[in-house]
Amino acid sequence: MDEVLARKEIVKIGERLYHHGYALANGGNISIRLSSREVLITPTGECLGDLAAEELPKVSMSGKVKPGERRPSAELMSHLNIYHERTDVNGIIHAHPPYATGLAIAGETFDKFAHPETYCVVGRVAVLPYATPDDNPKLVNEPIQHHDVLVMTNHGVLTVGTTLKQAHFKMESLEMLAHAMTVAKIHGAIHYLSEADLKLLDEFKKRHIG
Ligand SMILES: [Zn+2]
Repeated sequence: MDEVLARKEIVKIGERLYHHGYALANGGNISIRLSSREVLITPTGECLGDLAAEELPKVSMSGKVKPGERRPSAELMSHLNIYHERTDVNGIIHAHPPYATGLAIAGETFDKFAHPETYCVVGRVAVLPYATPDDNPKLVNEPIQHHDVLVMTNHGVLTVGTTLKQAHFKMESLEMLAHAMTVAKIHGAIHYLSEADLKLLDEFKKRHIG
């Protein structure tokens, strides 16, 4: 991807995540695969709502940072592991959207779906066990092979896409679902779609979305 456009895209998505409350203070991180050799990622300790396009560190696929670049996000190795595992992925977001994160703290398994359009965007969700930041990279390798959305227990959400925009759609869609599930719980109970309903949606998705 063109580097100037990639830098602008990361700044734009960072502002959206911050202003919608998905990544407050210095939480969350974003990356784009520039080529088979390099990744652009947000710097550590920075607010996603206040990124400077020219200050995003460029990192090699083995994790080397050029001299003079800012220190990359502490979640760099999780991002690099995912780019190694999934050659179709070109954008990754990690954030702490409050409803999805709240459900992850409450032990929600996300193994059933209650909203058809969200299911079409998000697909099946994998829930990772709680881990300290140093252990997160090794937890993503297996589930990311079959899922685009990972919920991290007591932590937050990680989404991937063929583009950063697609990763962002998945993040927003999961948060909308988590919000709606929370409202449904307050007002009664969640009425989930059946496995047969989900299979029909899988077929619909193949025909209309690909
Ligand atoms: Zn986090």
